[in-house]
Amino acid sequence: MIKKILIANRGDVALRVLRACRDMGIETVAVHSTADADAMHVRLADESVCIGGAPSSESYLNVPSIITAATITGADAIHPGVGFLSENADFARVVDAHGLTFIGPRIEHITAMGDKVEAKRTAADSGLPLVPGSDGAVATIDEARSVAEEVGYPVLVKAASGGGGRGMKVAATADDLAEAFSSARTEAKAAFGDDTVYLERYLDNPRHIEVQVVADSHGNVIHLGERECSVQRRHQKLLEEAPSPVLDSAQRDHIGTIAAQAAAKMGYLGLGTMEFLYENGEFFFIEMNTRLQVEHPITEEITGIDLVCEQIRIAAGEKLSVTQDEVTFKGHAIECRINAEHPETFFPTPGTVTNFHTAGGPGVRVDSFLNSGYAIPPYYDSLIAKLVVYGDDREHCLSRLRRALQECIIEPMPTSLDLHRKLVVDDDIISGNYTIRWLEEEFFAKDNAS
Ligand code: ADP
Repeated sequence: MIKKILIANRGDVALRVLRACRDMGIETVAVHSTADADAMHVRLADESVCIGGAPSSESYLNVPSIITAATITGADAIHPGVGFLSENADFARVVDAHGLTFIGPRIEHITAMGDKVEAKRTAADSGLPLVPGSDGAVATIDEARSVAEEVGYPVLVKAASGGGGRGMKVAATADDLAEAFSSARTEAKAAFGDDTVYLERYLDNPRHIEVQVVADSHGNVIHLGERECSVQRRHQKLLEEAPSPVLDSAQRDHIGTIAAQAAAKMGYLGLGTMEFLYENGEFFFIEMNTRLQVEHPITEEITGIDLVCEQIRIAAGEKLSVTQDEVTFKGHAIECRINAEHPETFFPTPGTVTNFHTAGGPGVRVDSFLNSGYAIPPYYDSLIAKLVVYGDDREHCLSRLRRALQECIIEPMPTSLDLHRKLVVDDDIISGNYTIRWLEEEFFAKDNAS
C-alpha cells in the first residue's frame, strides 16, 4: 500500500503525477530548487521540501537531498517523472536501499536499456527486428569502415549513452566517415561522459513509431498501441499522434504483440516504450525508454487508461487493471509540445509570462504549470505546456486542435505555438503524409519560400 509519494521532478510532469496521486487518494510531497519555490507543483502538493540551488545538479539531480526529503516527510515511494533521475539505475538502487519504492521498472532493465548497445542486444534476444548495423560497440575507425561497407552508406554513428538526439552523426559516403566517427565520439564524451559509439544504417525516410507496453509483477504484459512521433526537429519530437495515420489494425496488433512478447521475455515491469523506425512496411527497433514518456497523454486519450495511476498500482504490487482483450482503441489524439523557444534557432526563451490563457472546450486537455506572472526559469527544459486534443477520428481531432491553438495565449516570449498553428493547416499534416525528415527538409523549406 502506497500512502505518500515524493515526486522527484518539476514542471508539467510533476503536476501530472500529483494529479494521479490525488485521484488515488495518495498524499504528495513536492521537491523543488530555490528557483522553483513558487512553482505550481510546490503550491499544489500536500507538502514541499527545498532540495537545493537552481542548477539541476544541485537539486533535481541531488540524490542525497531527495532521499533526505523522502525520509523526513515519511514518504513511502518516489516517482521520478520524466528526465532528471528517471532512467538512472543508481538512483533506483539508492531508493530501494532506503526501503522506499521506486515507481519504475526493475534496476536491471534501466541499466540494460540505458546503454543502447546493450539495449539492441537485449531487444534482438527478445525477438525484435533491428536496424542493420554493428554488432555492439565500434572502437576504431577501421572497424567502423568495415561495418559501414557491410551495411551500406549512408550510415549513422550513434552514442551508446545517447539521448535527446545528441551524439548522432551521419556519414553519407566513405569520405565522411572519419569525421562523423570522431565528432560523434567527442559530442558523446562531452554530453554523457562516455564516448562509446555504434553504427546503424541511416534509413532513407522512415517514420518514428513507438509502442507503449505495460507489465505487472504477476506476469501480465499488454500493449496499448502505438504513437506516431515523426514530426521532429533535430531528432526531437514536436507533435505526436495516436493512432499512427499509416497503420491499420492488423499492423497495430502485429507490432504491439511483438513488443509485448519481447517485454514478457525480458521479465519487464512497469511502463516501457519500444521505439521503432518504420519504412516500406517494416519495423526496426532503435531503443527502449524505461519510463513514462512526454507523449503518454495521447495513449491515455484513445484507450481511456490512466498510465500514471497504472504505474503506481504496479509499483504497489497490484495487477494491471485491464487484460489485452479489454483494451480498446477509440478515436484519435494529437499532442503539441509547446516550448518557450525561438521559432528559427530553437534556443530557449525564458522570462516572465505576462498573459496566459489555456484552450478549453470538448476534447481539449492542457497539461501546463504556467500562470500569468510566472517567471520561466532559464535552468530547465523549455517545455512549458502540452496541448492534447481528442476527436472521434483524425479529421475531427485536427479541427478541434485548430480551434484550441487559436485560443491559447502565452505572452510575451516566442513559443512553438505559431509553428503548431502552421502545422495543423499544412496539407501533408492533414493527409498524414510525413516522415522524420519532413519538418526540416520539406516544411521549413516551404515555409521560408512563402
Ligand atoms: P535519442 O535517444 O537521442 O533520442 P534515438 O535512437 O531515439 O536517439 O533516435 C532519435 C531520432 O533519430 C529517431 O526518432 C529518428 O528520427 C532518428 N534516427 C535514429 N536512428 C536512425 C537511423 N538508423 N536512421 C535514420 N534516422 C534515425
